[in-house]
Order: sequence, then structure tokens, then C-alpha cells
Amino acid sequence: MPLYLDDEFIETFVYEEVAVALWAIHLHVEDVAVTPALALRLIRQYLQPLIPPEHWYVLNQKQPVTWNRIWMISSELASLLGRGNDPLLFEVGNAIELIHSHTTRPPREYTFATVIEVTYFLSMCGQLKIPVQSQIRPDREQRIDPFNFCSLCWRQPLPGRKLCAHHAPSTPLMAEGADKRAAAARYKSGIRQKEQFDKAVNRILTKEVTEFHEGLFTPVVLFPEQGIAAWLTERRPLLWQLLGEQQELNDGNAVGMLLDLLHSPDGLPSKAYQIYRQINQHLQKHPLLIWPMLIRAEGWHRCREEVRGQWGGKRSGAGRPVQPAIEPSATSPCTDQQPGAARGCADHKSQ
Ligand SMILES: [Zn+2]
Repeated sequence: MPLYLDDEFIETFVYEEVAVALWAIHLHVEDVAVTPALALRLIRQYLQPLIPPEHWYVLNQKQPVTWNRIWMISSELASLLGRGNDPLLFEVGNAIELIHSHTTRPPREYTFATVIEVTYFLSMCGQLKIPVQSQIRPDREQRIDPFNFCSLCWRQPLPGRKLCAHHAPSTPLMAEGADKRAAAARYKSGIRQKEQFDKAVNRILTKEVTEFHEGLFTPVVLFPEQGIAAWLTERRPLLWQLLGEQQELNDGNAVGMLLDLLHSPDGLPSKAYQIYRQINQHLQKHPLLIWPMLIRAEGWHRCREEVRGQWGGKRSGAGRPVQPAIEPSATSPCTDQQPGAARGCADHKSQ
């Protein structure tokens, strides 16, 4: 099992030194079976020098070396990011994740840890005694977790990855004609915003969970069956604005409109396309379960507004711009456009 990555795939890494290291590993294992021990040895040899020495301990823990351990390393590096927000570190983590997934065919998958908003969501449902079917099983072999989210947004990640098609630098959306630069720019801006995004989601979460408990488990915090428009206006105001044709929204079509806005499968590679469709069908059947996606999407757009506000705020008297925000350039911290697939990218609609 060599490393199944083609040259083009490797070239999409933003940091050349990471691409070079992956290249070296790729050549090294061209004709050999990659065991977890060999993978770790090569990671230490080629990727460890790229990260600050204070993080080397992550690669040198005395634990049995398994594929899951390799995956955990990439995840631990990603969690260090919250403290330092170092995009190179993130990319090294990503390279390790690729070594984990792409040393077999089809790529090796891992069960992802649950994000905190899902934990709280399930706990609120439990307190209200609402049963939650949180796993989709289209057939005997396949399991889909609708609460598995891209680390940088609200979308389902690509199979076996931590990033969605919109944010993965190495898997540009097909509809965009493989525009690598745009994909790399989205990825970079996503990493820059990650800490702020997590905080924005957390603020909404804290407020609503507190409200839920102080109101003695009032269910209004969760996605309602009726009065969805009013709920969105109050609790997810940015998504409400992005919906555009709000007057058309009613309790019957609200979930469909939200999914069109946030989670359209158009332009995705075929396996991801199927997964998106199955998740969307599941959410249509169980509207309550859209809550975690909405809190992440609202948090993402709030974070984005904050970043824009910071730019505007530098001038006196200019808080949030009254005019539509200036479209950021390809290198700005906000670049997260998805031309040609506007429905999948909510912010596209707002401009
Ligand atoms: Zn994403």
C-alpha cells in the first residue's frame, strides 16, 4: 500500500515545505507496504522538522502505533492550533491526516469526535425526552453521521477527511473547474478564522444552553415545528437575512430552503454528493436535527461579520459598513467565495 496521492493533489498544499515533505514520503514508500510504524517514522523524519519543537511531543508519545494513533496525531496538532493559530501547523496536521487516509484504497476512514454543540444538542433533546436518530444507514455497510462537520464550517466533510469540499485545498469543487487558487484561498482564510469561528459558535451555544436551563428546559431554544420564520429571525438572524426570499418561507418548506442555502450537493464529487443528499433527506424527515448545522452556520457568518467590522472599525465612526461589504481580494482574511456554486455558499448571496 503506497501513498495514493498524485502530484497534482500534493501541489495544492499552500506551504511548499509541506508539499515537499509529502513528496519525499510519497517517493519513499512507492513500492512498499506502509505500516503505521513506517508512517510514523516518515512523519517524524519529514514533517516534524516543520513544526515548532514545543509541539514535537505529540509525535513522540509512548503509545502503541496504530492507524488510529496516526489519526489522533493529526487531530492533536489541529487542536494546538486554537492556541497559536499557526496555519503551517494546521497544514502539517492535514498532511498527516492524508497519510492516514490515503495509504489504502478506498481511503481509510475514522470516526470523528463529536463537536461540543452536538453534545449539548443531544443532551437538550435527552432532557426533553425527544428521541434522536443521529445515524443514517442507507445500506448494511454504510453509516452516515449527519453531525459530522468540517472543522472550518457547517458542511459535512469529504469522506474520510476533516474538511468539506469547500475548504479542502486538495479537492476543489468540480463545478468550479478545479480552480486551485480559489480553493487554496478559501482554505487559508478558513484556517485564519478558525479560532474566531469556534468562539462565535460557542457564544451562541452558551447563551442558548443557559437559556434552556434557566427556562427549565423550555424547548423554544431548539428548532421548532411551527413558527420557524419567527424563530430564525430571533435566533439565526444572519441566516434569515441570507435566505433572501423570506416571504416565501413557511413551516413546510423552511428546512428545504435552509438546505438549499447551506448544504446543496451541487458540484460535489459523486460519493460526497450522495452523502449530502442522504443527509438532506434525513434532515427533511427530522427537521429538529438541523439545529447543530444552523448554529455552526450562524456562528460562521457572525465571525465573518466581526472580521469585516474590524476592518471598518479602523476608521473613526465606521463600525459595520452600511453599504454591502467590499468584496475581499484573494489574499484577504475573508475570502471564502464559491463562484459558480452560489447556493452552496451562503455568503455569495449576501453580496
Ligand atoms: Zn468547510
